[in-house]
Amino acid sequence: MEDYGTGANRLIAATRAQGVNDERVLEAIRRVPREAFVPIHATDEASSDVPIPLPQQQTTTQPSLVARMVAALGLEGGEEVLEVGTGYGWQTALLATLARMVYSIEREPDLARVARQNLARRHIRNTSVIVGDGYRGVAEHAPYDAIIVSAAARTVPSPLADQLRDGGRLVMPMGPGGDDEVVAYERRDGQLVETADLGPARFVPLIGSD
Ligand code: SAH
Repeated sequence: MEDYGTGANRLIAATRAQGVNDERVLEAIRRVPREAFVPIHATDEASSDVPIPLPQQQTTTQPSLVARMVAALGLEGGEEVLEVGTGYGWQTALLATLARMVYSIEREPDLARVARQNLARRHIRNTSVIVGDGYRGVAEHAPYDAIIVSAAARTVPSPLADQLRDGGRLVMPMGPGGDDEVVAYERRDGQLVETADLGPARFVPLIGSD
């Protein structure tokens, strides 16, 4: 399998240091070069465990935090996943190596366009990037086995809870944006039950929420 070397090793070390031991997730980080999913002027920073600014006042999430959130989904390979907030698509690419199909919704058409290009260049085909309001989810392909949200809101948007399969997991930063708590939920008998608190983090707000 392709290995892009030192950059990946730095991110893997940072991710392990954050307590992620899921070998499938670490292997996904090894395979998907982050430098291919950041703005061209930021490729030097891509191997550092730091957020990187994107156009439209958005920002890529710190890799070790992406890894912790993705690990909390417990993906085994056969799942259909909904991602809300594509950005430039690095997390989308990780999810695509860990699950069967990833639907990703992004509200900024310019970001979605770049994400599609980045994914296509890496020959990642089991993703579909949709432009729209992630607050509503993507009903056409529901229910999902897992949902991951990359922007914060004070409550889980009810369409997302509705589009999660019973037994499925949802991970999302809860808060106003900038001062949030990442929470993992499981849907049981139609209700979202909190299963883990992944700790504090700073996310951009999910636009259109509250
Ligand atoms: N997952 C990416 C991007 C994180 S930034 C990464 O880890 O790098 C959060 C993204 O959510 C931005 O691209 C922003 O445009 C998008 N976003 C914010 N509100 C949204 C909404 N209501 N629907 C869809 N996308 C949204």
